[in-house]
Amino acid sequence: MRFDVVSLFPELFAPFLTSGIIRRAFESAQVDVQFTNPRDFANGTYRRIDDRPFGGGPGMVMMAEPLAQSLAHIQSLRTEKVPVVLFSPIGRVLDHQLVQEFSSGAGAVLLCGRYEGLDQRFIDSHVDMQVSLGDFVLSGGEIAAIALLDAVARLQPGVLSDPESHHQDSFNPAMDGLLDCPHYTRPENWDGVAVPDVLLSGHHVNIERWRRQQSLDLTARYRPDLLERARQKGLLSKQDERYLAERR
Ligand code: SAH
Repeated sequence: MRFDVVSLFPELFAPFLTSGIIRRAFESAQVDVQFTNPRDFANGTYRRIDDRPFGGGPGMVMMAEPLAQSLAHIQSLRTEKVPVVLFSPIGRVLDHQLVQEFSSGAGAVLLCGRYEGLDQRFIDSHVDMQVSLGDFVLSGGEIAAIALLDAVARLQPGVLSDPESHHQDSFNPAMDGLLDCPHYTRPENWDGVAVPDVLLSGHHVNIERWRRQQSLDLTARYRPDLLERARQKGLLSKQDERYLAERR
């Protein structure tokens, strides 16, 4: 798959795409990421890509033309049609389901806004989907694009050292969409606190049961909405329901 990132600050991406476990996905081009800088399509000595807002008020607005030319350039290089995604507080909040959709697709064009945002005429005519990181305002879409690319990369086969690893992650369908259980490592006693006995027992069935129960507990406590969703999809077993009833 190929993602084309449109950003005025492409240099922000390199440290994220070249560090840690997800590096493999980008270096092998399993997740191919290419950059286009709207400044390269701006005219005049100053290569302006922004201007003052009509109607007055603070800040600057990204001009439509350099963005449209960036997109035309990308589309001339790509064979398949992929969605044009704008990062914006208006958008659908990024979640596991959306990440999964991207991770099984052909890629996307990721538009990173800056300043007050983009000229609305460009959004109306060229953007297919808007995606938000949450109800807060970033100074640019780059962090949102990096979050999306990171999450997509870790779902690619062969990226995590243990192929099953992401199945144990929070929100994963293999986990029935519940939150992950707590994790412990050496030493067995740290700062006067011991690791739960069951994890040292070597009894796999009990360990699995304990982990499931911990996930149920954490999800009930922190994300009751996810627990309810799992229940409605019929993903909670009788044993799960019995455990939850006991806990209540
Ligand atoms: N004036 C806008 C904010 C502009 S912030 C407003 O109040 O809605 C500049 C850019 O940062 C935006 O164009 C967008 O690309 C990005 N951005 C800001 N907050 C974001 C969020 N929560 N999720 C995704 N992108 C965001």
